[in-house]
Parts: sequence; structure tokens; C-alpha cells
Amino acid sequence: MKQLYIDFDGVILDTITYPYEYVEKKLGLEINPENMSKFYSELDWKDFLKKVPVINDSIDCIQKIIESNLFEVSILTHVTTLEEAIEKIKYIRKYFDDITIIPVPRKISKTKMVHTEGSILIDDYAGNLKEWTEAGGIGVRFSPKLSSKGYPVIDRLDQILELEFV
Ligand SMILES: [Mg+2]
Repeated sequence: MKQLYIDFDGVILDTITYPYEYVEKKLGLEINPENMSKFYSELDWKDFLKKVPVINDSIDCIQKIIESNLFEVSILTHVTTLEEAIEKIKYIRKYFDDITIIPVPRKISKTKMVHTEGSILIDDYAGNLKEWTEAGGIGVRFSPKLSSKGYPVIDRLDQILELEFV
């Protein structure tokens, strides 16, 4: 079975739209890593994760991918704080009792946490995919607008089952 790593923010849940709008419009701050890290570190993650929408049936899609037996599925997610990691783990655990979840400190590349060679990463952030492919992995971009940025692109997670290299 191929290793398949799935990003959380902007792929499973839309944890992106509201924070970016809040920081930019309400706080009037620039969207940059410092401002976003500050926002995420002060956030009530437990409450936040209850309110944000699931993206394009991602939970059902992950179930379908697991049932296909084509992939060993793990969740690979950047976190700013321990609280964020804890609440993301609890969220995923509500739906999947036997899945690997790997929180990655924000300042560390996802490629430094797992074996990348030949492994697939589905991520909405092209920067992560660039690092991933440079480290010998296979990058698949998740984009609800199907903007590829040079990578194979999907807008629903179960489309991974139809990509040619699978
Ligand atoms: Mg993401």
C-alpha cells in the first residue's frame, strides 16, 4: 500500500477563510506568517473546530479512501500550539478510531517528519508541495477552484482514487 498523507487546514476543514478575513478585515493586519501564527495561537480551537465547515465531504471521502485499501492514510498537519494539536486530534478521532495523525510544528517542514520518498501528500499549499516533491515525494494539490500550480489537482479527496499514478 502507498503512503498517503492528507493535510488538515484547507483540505479537511475550512480553517482558512474565517481567520484570514478576520485578520485582514477586522484587525486590519497584513496576512503574513507572524500575524497568522499570533491569531492561531490565541484561538479557542475547540470552539473553532465545531464551527468551521467540512470541505467537499472530506470526512466521507477519507472513509472511502481507507476502504479502498489502496493507501495507508495519515493526517499530516502543521500546528502553532499544543492546544491546536490536541483539538485537531480529538476532531479526527471522532470519525476515525484507527488512523495516524501527525502534528508538525509550524516552523518544521512536513518533509522532516515522515518518510517522503514515493509517498503522496495532498495539500492546498503549493509551498508544502514544492518541498515534498523536492524530497522525492508525490505532491497532489487540493484546490476547490482546481488551480493546479503545476501539480496534479483535485477538489474532492476521493478523486485521488481516480488519478493515474494510483
Ligand atoms: Mg493546508
